[in-house]
Amino acid sequence: MSTNANPEADILFDVRNVTRRFDGLTAVAGVSFQVARGECVSVIGPNGAGKSTLFNLLAGADMPNEGVIRFDGEDVTGYAPEQLAARGIARTFQHGRVFGNLSVLDNVLMGAHVRLRSARRGWPVAGAVAELLRALFQPPSVRREEAAMRDAARAVIERFGERLTPRVDQSAHSLSYANRRRVEIARALMLGPRILLLDEPTAGMNESETAEMLALLLELKREGLTILLIEHKLDLVMTLSDRVLVLDEGRVIAAGAPQEVRRDPAVIEAYLGHRHVGADDIARAVAV
Ligand code: ADP
Ligand code: MG
Repeated sequence: MSTNANPEADILFDVRNVTRRFDGLTAVAGVSFQVARGECVSVIGPNGAGKSTLFNLLAGADMPNEGVIRFDGEDVTGYAPEQLAARGIARTFQHGRVFGNLSVLDNVLMGAHVRLRSARRGWPVAGAVAELLRALFQPPSVRREEAAMRDAARAVIERFGERLTPRVDQSAHSLSYANRRRVEIARALMLGPRILLLDEPTAGMNESETAEMLALLLELKREGLTILLIEHKLDLVMTLSDRVLVLDEGRVIAAGAPQEVRRDPAVIEAYLGHRHVGADDIARAVAV
């Protein structure tokens, strides 16, 4: 992947022995892995394997009971989501989260506000009152910055083509489920992330929508964005990933190149054994 003489310098996430327990249940059990700059790593595994919990730990929504998470050489274990966002870690949620009353554009602008807020204590609120305060009190330089942000948000939205561009001023609650997922990804991109964590970005999408999402993710990868992906659709995983990490009952049961992992008996057993994923996925997992 890399031409850097010092491979350590190319590691973004370095996760060591991370464990998260909920009462009697160990959702993530001593997980270790690394993500290098520019890589796309997918996390797969049956429902309940601990994938979303792992993401919550990496994005600061939850804290591990044990283990160390380093990002770009810094120990960030237990950091808050906004501290991690300020370091360039952007994530989307399995059950898409958008602000229903805000427009598509304002939802996407929220991503930039996370970044701006960390740069200077500013005007994180959207809406008419904030707009008025801004107009009254902000110096022209800040207004110019905001205008530039709006342009940047529009540019990000245009990446989603006809799906979002005509809807930029619509409120998010009027959007289809798939479009809400797209808005969430647009907001994450607006952060200007160094790594993008996507939790089942194609959930609820049909085949052509999934193909569109794949095309976008391939484009982002070509642009050099590092991606950590949770995804059930194995075709997409196989096409996009440099490496695949397979979780089952909180543990890493396999890790490696997509083609190796798909042939791994432990992986086939985890998928067949649980019968949580779709029959098509199982067939694809088993087929070589
Ligand atoms: P996946 O995303 O792989 O489907 P999750 O990470 O959502 O799996 O869940 C892993 C396990 O942890 C599941 O058994 C789930 O019920 C449990 N779990 C997740 N979050 C919590 C929580 N906040 N409290 C208690 N149990 C949880
Ligand atoms: Mg999940």
